Amino acid sequence: MGIFDNILNQVTSRLKNDIEYKTSSGISNTIDQGAKKVLEGDKTPRCPKCKKPIEHGMKFCSGCGVKLVVSCTKCNLEFPLGTRFCSGCGGKIQ
Ligand SMILES: [Zn+2]
Ligand SMILES: [Zn+2]
Repeated sequence: MGIFDNILNQVTSRLKNDIEYKTSSGISNTIDQGAKKVLEGDKTPRCPKCKKPIEHGMKFCSGCGVKLVVSCTKCNLEFPLGTRFCSGCGGKIQ
């Protein structure tokens, strides 16, 4: 091992560290952005038919007209799609 080999080794390991740092930070940024997108997507209720975002209080989809509420057969209260039990009477919503 001469002086030249030592310098070469130092340069090589420095370059390697640099590349590894850039690669890992780049990947974690991408994962962060992906996770954020998934979380944001989950917060927005979407039409089961055309996937258009549903605004609060909408009873019918403005994109395809599909009904976005379910109604209790006992007391006729309306709830957002996905509601399983009526908060008015406790009955199961079909
Ligand atoms: Zn729709
Ligand atoms: Zn009910």
